[in-house]
Order: sequence, then C-alpha cells, then structure tokens
Amino acid sequence: MNEAVVSEIPHDASRTQSGTHSGYSYAFLDELTKKSVRRAILKAVAVPGYQVPFGSTELPIARGWGTGGLQVTLSLIGPGDVLKVIDQGSDDSVNAVNIRQLVELTAPGVDTTAATEEATIIQTRHRIPEAPLHADQIMVFQVPLPEPLRVVERRESETRRMHAEADYGRIWVALYEDVVQHGRITRSAGYPVVVNGRHVMTPSPIPKWDVPRLHQAPFLSLFGAGREKRIYAVPPLTDVVPLAFDDYPFAIEDFDGAHCARCGSDDTFLVEVPQPDGSSVMSCSDESWCEARRTERGQS
Ligand SMILES: [Zn+2]
Repeated sequence: MNEAVVSEIPHDASRTQSGTHSGYSYAFLDELTKKSVRRAILKAVAVPGYQVPFGSTELPIARGWGTGGLQVTLSLIGPGDVLKVIDQGSDDSVNAVNIRQLVELTAPGVDTTAATEEATIIQTRHRIPEAPLHADQIMVFQVPLPEPLRVVERRESETRRMHAEADYGRIWVALYEDVVQHGRITRSAGYPVVVNGRHVMTPSPIPKWDVPRLHQAPFLSLFGAGREKRIYAVPPLTDVVPLAFDDYPFAIEDFDGAHCARCGSDDTFLVEVPQPDGSSVMSCSDESWCEARRTERGQS
C-alpha cells in the first residue's frame, strides 16, 4: 500500500474490516477535498437557497449519475452513520446499489439500510421518502440542473446577477405565459420555490407531491450538482414556498382516487408500472414504504 495514501486515512478509520477496501482515504475522498465540500455546505446552510460554487472532483462514477450528491454524502459520513440511497423511490436500482456499495467498501463503520427511519443520511435521486423524517436525519439530493432561472436566461453571469438583485420578474413572466398558453402552470418536476423569502431555487426534479415536505421541515436538506459544481441547502425550519398566483395556486399531483395495486395506499405518490399484457397498474413510487405497508397488513 502507498505510504502517502495510508497517512491520509484517519487513525480510527484505518482498521480494515472484512469487505472494505484498504488503500483509499476514508469514504474515498481525501480529507482536504472533504473539508472544502463541508465549507461549501456551511456557506449554503448560512444562505438558504443560494448556490455555492465548489470544486467538484472526479469520482469513479460519471458526472450526471449523482456525483454532486455523492460528494456531499462522502464529506459528511462517518462511523456510526446509517446510509440509505434511493433512485426514484427505489433502493434497488443500479445507480442506488452502486453508490451504496462504494460507501460500504470505503467507509468502515457505516451501515446501510433500506428502512427510512433507521437512516441518518438519505441520498436521493428525485424523491423524498413517504415516511416522516426527523431532525437528526439529513436529506442529500442529486441535482442535474441547479439553476432555476436557466429556462429564462442562458448566461450564467446574468443568472448570478438576477439572484444577487432578487430580480425574478422573468421567471414570473414565464409562469404567467404558461398559464396563458395552457390554462394552468404545467411545470411539474423541479417546481421553482422561494427559500427563506429570498432565493428562487429548484428543489431538484422531485415531483410536486414532495415540494410541501420541504416547507418548515425538521430535517436539513442538502443539494449537490456535480457536473454544474454547485451546492445549496434548505436548513431545518425554513420557509419553502412554491411560485404560484393567487388565482392559479400551487397544487400537488392528483391521482384521481387511484390506489397502489400492491399495498392499497391512496395517500402516496404513485407511478405507472407496465404489465406483461400491455396494460399498466399504479404502484407506490417509494418501494420500501410500500413493502413496509404490505408487511404490516400481512400481504408479503
Ligand atoms: Zn404501495
């Protein structure tokens, strides 16, 4: 093993447990990189909704596959933490499994779980778990496009000026034009919100269903965009208000009385699941929640 690498591993983490990789820094990233990410996180928490630039580093997965969220997770995680990783509500997708395995292999002392209530850190792609979250849990969102103003302005220098001056007229006009053309606001995933009465922010492409969960939430939300090199945050107990008009208010998805074909729930975010015969059924997007409900009811 390379001596320089060994010296970077914190003393308490160098005990190699069976099944973990030696020869890497604890949680893969070197300590200086983790420190710089944590500095960006602190700034993001201090200015809710503001996109903090950070020096996004290379990881053994490609940019666009959750590297921003993963850098946030790796910079925070330590022995005693319990990590849950979901991809569109699934703990078993290829992306979620690989991210979880990277942490298992490089961060001894960290447990992983599918049970939302057991997790201390939940890294997610595009969902918030249905189960209620607590003050001692951290949500880490994978963000593809952190700039909510990109739809109305392509120049980064200009969007930064607009945020600095709270000059949000053009995104309001875009929403108004949406109403004029379609009779309603058609934005769904990544619905723009105002955080702490100041910054317009995209909550990452979570469905509208999940957006109200961020308002005055007991937990800390951290958003990492690896390709775009931005980190932003919603601290606990912070106002998160969707952009909307008095006569066209924000509304979550309406499933028109549909319920989950597997557990029977009618109060969860449902997705359409194609069946072998060409038809489709509705099912909970949050699979571990669905599984728990079925177990509760003795269905599994
Ligand atoms: Zn279900």
